[in-house]
Amino acid sequence: MANVNVTQHPHVDFDSIIIGAGFGGLRALHEMRQLGKSVRLFDAGSDVGGTWYWNRYPGARTDSEAWAYCYSFSKELQDEWDWPERMPTWDQVQGYLGHVADKFDMRKDIAFDTYVKSVIYDEAHNQWVLTTAQGDVFRAHYFISAVGWFAVAVKPPFDMSAFKGDWYLSSQWPKHEVDLRGKRVAIVGSGSTAVQILPAIAKQAAQVTMFQRTPNYVLPGRNHPLNDSDRNAIKADYDNIWLQVRKQVFAFPMDSSPLTYDDVDDAQRERIFEYGWEQGGFRFLFETFADLLVDPRSNAAAAEFVRRKIRSIVKDPVTAELMAPKYPIALKRPPLGNFYFESFNRDNVHLVDVSQHPLIGATATGLKTAVAEYAFDIVIFAIGFDAVTGPLTHMEVRGRDGELVRDKWEAGPRTHLGIVMDGFPNMFIITGPQSPFSNVPPVVDASVDWIGKVIAKADALGADVVEARPEAVTAWIALMVELLDQTLLGQATELKSWFMGANIEGKAHAPLHYFGGANGYFEELKRSLATEFADDLTFSSQRVLAGSV
Ligand SMILES: Cc1cc2nc3c(=O)[nH]c(=O)nc-3n(C[C@H](O)[C@H](O)[C@H](O)COP(=O)(O)OP(=O)(O)OC[C@H]3O[C@@H](n4cnc5c(N)ncnc54)[C@H](O)[C@@H]3O)c2cc1C
Repeated sequence: MANVNVTQHPHVDFDSIIIGAGFGGLRALHEMRQLGKSVRLFDAGSDVGGTWYWNRYPGARTDSEAWAYCYSFSKELQDEWDWPERMPTWDQVQGYLGHVADKFDMRKDIAFDTYVKSVIYDEAHNQWVLTTAQGDVFRAHYFISAVGWFAVAVKPPFDMSAFKGDWYLSSQWPKHEVDLRGKRVAIVGSGSTAVQILPAIAKQAAQVTMFQRTPNYVLPGRNHPLNDSDRNAIKADYDNIWLQVRKQVFAFPMDSSPLTYDDVDDAQRERIFEYGWEQGGFRFLFETFADLLVDPRSNAAAAEFVRRKIRSIVKDPVTAELMAPKYPIALKRPPLGNFYFESFNRDNVHLVDVSQHPLIGATATGLKTAVAEYAFDIVIFAIGFDAVTGPLTHMEVRGRDGELVRDKWEAGPRTHLGIVMDGFPNMFIITGPQSPFSNVPPVVDASVDWIGKVIAKADALGADVVEARPEAVTAWIALMVELLDQTLLGQATELKSWFMGANIEGKAHAPLHYFGGANGYFEELKRSLATEFADDLTFSSQRVLAGSV
């Protein structure tokens, strides 16, 4: 065997490349630097923020409470940032992430306005080769995908070119102000985004019409401003907040209720639901009954409680009935509303049920179904995303033997811990498919911490190839199905829920998330760390091979 000089390897531009400048990517950039790795982060957007850079539509805000929708890795950062509201608006979250980028001097390592076309594993040289839409090529040893869940929006289901008015996708809302005063506006969709947009624009527009295919159990957000005393109390309580988050099933700062259906009588149950409803946000789901997602009786009682609320708020009984869902609660992610149902009592807000006659096209003056036409000046599509897997499958990402992620995931995602894949060495995914469905930032912190420890171990071993064990991937996929079957969520496919991949024609129906709870997931990461990844990963070195071809 002839010795080949390693310098014949193509030049590595960076130790690591990251895609995505949201919560995941920025946290990964910080971690890579801490490990002493050079790093370049790419994002199609012109600024940091990720989701919050793109989703700047009227009314956009978090459903998570501010004090746990943030990083926990820096106490200084935690103590210096002042959230203005309980559920921050898009620009408040973007402001926070901008502050993070500035505080840790991250911008110099970020290429904005740079869409990544492909990332391909060059097996011979054990390098990832990233190509941008502009045609620039970069080589790196590690590839971290932080492309998030929602970077690929569903496009309007019909051609809009005939329409003479303006139309928008909620997730590509323009940076300039859209003047809705005096306008007749259509909102297509009735999910989380539409639920936020409607009350925000109802006060400006002359008329707002919502086209609803499936009603949602919209829970009251009860957002409110935070004052100095709230903020001081939160900051003083942070140790407890992060403890709560790590124990709670959705990584929320709440103490989950220990009560189950049989622990109380009907009158007590009603009082408990009323308490949850008044608390606002997801407290209705988590601080009421522990078995809402597993015991059909508990679920039915919660669902009936919300239906009664809808009927008591929405004055027109026909509209109220159309808005009252009949399926089990939480099979579609319940949106949070701020005066959503109340908005339908305004004279200028109308609901059109399109469950029987869907919208089929645009006219010069508006939209049409098979049986009716509607006139508008502006149409807003809030119709969701090719969620969770879409951002990675829409790119050309190839591992060993040129295998495409898109092909590998044809029957559903295949990962271990939602972070690593067999056949894709030295690649890590943050908030990937098969990671928990929960409040995101705590999961980002824990996953990136895990990734950092993997890389530190590789360095300590002198290994340059880290890869998921195929048997760990197989076991993780089986666990996803097993966990889903322990809940009522399996029925979500019939409701075209995005978290089952069921909202996209032709997409495999498979659980896109780990449904064992964020707390269960944190335990999985702990187990993996305690065993030094023995059952999870292989560490090896290709340098020897490269030097002796
Ligand atoms: C309106 C809305 C409200 C939400 N509210 C909550 C909430 O209350 N609580 C919660 O936990 N989660 C919420 N989420 C989910 C939210 O996406 C996550 O909380 C979090 O922001 C995800 O961060 P991320 O870094 O994983 O990905 P993102 O923030 O989605 O960032 C991904 C980035 O990758 C970039 N990218 C993708 N593909 C490419 C490519 N090929 N080339 C270059 N760049 C690319 C995108 O431009 C984007 O900037 C919400 C999402 C939306 C849309």
